[in-house]
Amino acid sequence: MAKQIQAIRGMNDILPTQSPLWQKLEAVLRDTVAAYGYSEIRTPIVESTDLFKRSIGEVTDIVEKEMYTFADRNGDLLTLRPEGTASTVRAGNEHGLLYNQEQRLWYMGPMFRHERPQKGRYRQFHQFGVEVYGIGSADVDAEVLMMSARLWQKLGITEHVKLELNTLGDPAERANYRDALIAFLEQFKEQLDEDSQRRMYTNPLRVLDTKNPDVQALLADAPELMDYLGDESKAHFSHLCELLDAVGIQYTVNPRLVRGLDYYNRTVFEWVTDSLGAQGTVLAGGRYDGLVGQLGGKDTPAVGFAMGLERIVLMLETLALTEDVAGAVDIYVTAMGDSCRVEAIKIAQTLRDVPGLKVMSHCGGGNFKKQMKRADKSGAKLAIVIGENELANNQVALKYLREDKEQELVARDSLATYIAELI
Ligand code: ATP
Ligand code: MG
Repeated sequence: MAKQIQAIRGMNDILPTQSPLWQKLEAVLRDTVAAYGYSEIRTPIVESTDLFKRSIGEVTDIVEKEMYTFADRNGDLLTLRPEGTASTVRAGNEHGLLYNQEQRLWYMGPMFRHERPQKGRYRQFHQFGVEVYGIGSADVDAEVLMMSARLWQKLGITEHVKLELNTLGDPAERANYRDALIAFLEQFKEQLDEDSQRRMYTNPLRVLDTKNPDVQALLADAPELMDYLGDESKAHFSHLCELLDAVGIQYTVNPRLVRGLDYYNRTVFEWVTDSLGAQGTVLAGGRYDGLVGQLGGKDTPAVGFAMGLERIVLMLETLALTEDVAGAVDIYVTAMGDSCRVEAIKIAQTLRDVPGLKVMSHCGGGNFKKQMKRADKSGAKLAIVIGENELANNQVALKYLREDKEQELVARDSLATYIAELI
C-alpha cells in the first residue's frame, strides 16, 4: 500500500463528530456580536510580512520565532497571519473605514504560529475577535468585556473563567517605567534566565510575565507601572473599574499582566481558566490607540480582544457541556425494493421543504434489518419506509427509532404537515 500523507504537525482536522460543537460555538459568537451591533470583516489569510513586524513588534515571541513566512514566486515576503488585529487595521486604513469614524467589527478564522504543539496550543488554531475603532473612552473597554462575560454565560462556563485586568499607561509613561524596571533588573542580571536577559533591554516589560518561578521570585519587589501613570491614564483605568463594578463583572488587577504584543496601551486584560492546565488564557485583549497611526492611518483610538476557539472547545468538552448539541439528521428515508427507490428519493426531497427539517435518504437496498441499522446509525429520530404496499396505497410507514412507539401509516399528502408537527 502507498504511504499515507499526514497532516502537518500542530494542524488539526475538525472531524464530523466534532463539528456540531464548533458550529454551536460559532453560532453563539455570531448571535452575541449581533446583539451589540458589530459587523463582520474578513481579511486574507496571507499578508505582507512587514505588516506583522510593524504592528506586533520585532521583539515579540510571535515575530521572533513563531511566524510562517515564505517568499512567493515574485520574491515578496509573505506571512500566514498569526493574529487578526494587524490585518483588520490594515484593511480599515486601506478602505477608509477608520478615518473619523466609529467602527465595531468582528472576525473569526484560522491563525498560524510555529509553536511547540501541546494541549491547547497548535500551529493552526482559530480565533474569534472584536475590534472597536474611534472611541477613546473606557465605556467601550467595558463594552467588550461585558460582551465576553455574556459569551461565558451563554456557553455555561461563567463559573470557570476569571478576568485579570491591568493598565500599561501611555507610551511616555511606559518609557519612564521601562527605565526604572531596567535599573531594577540590572541588579539581578546574572540570576535572570537566558530569555529574560535577552529581553531585559529590548522588551523589559515582557520579563514581568515570565513563567520561570525563579525569575518571578526575583520580581517580587520590582517597581509597578501603576506608580508611573499620569492622571489621564489613571482616570481611564478607574472609570473602567467603576463600570465593571456597576455591571457586576468581577476582576482581579494583576500588575504583572503585560501581554505579548507591542501595540497595547492603557487597558489590557485576559480571561483565564484553571480547567485547561498550562494553556489557561482563553481570551485576551486590550486597548491599542497607537496602532492605526503606526500603520499609516490617522491616529484613532482602538480596543479589542481575541479568543482562542480550540481552548473554548476543550473547556466545553472537559466540563462535559456538549450533550445538547443537535445531531446531523432528523429523518432517514429508505426504500424496500428497487421499484420504490425513485418515490423514496422524491419524498425525501419534498420533506426538505419543511423549515429546519434534516432529511437523509439512502435507497441503496439491502434487507430491512440492514436498512434500519443504517437509519439508526444516522442518529435520526424517525425512519420513513416505502415498500410496494405503501406505494400502492399512497402511504408511507413511519418508524420511531428513539421511542417505544408503534409504527404508523401516514398518507403521503399529509406527510409533510404531520412530520412538521411531530418534530
Ligand atoms: P499564550 O500566552 O497562550 O501564548 P498569547 O498571548 O500568545 O497566548 P494572543 O496572541 O493574545 O495569545 O491570542 C489570544 C488567544 O488566542 C489566546 O488567549 C489563546 O486562547 C489563543 N491562542 C494563542 N496562541 C494559540 C495557539 N498556538 N493555539 C491555540 N490557541 C492559541
Ligand atoms: Mg503565545
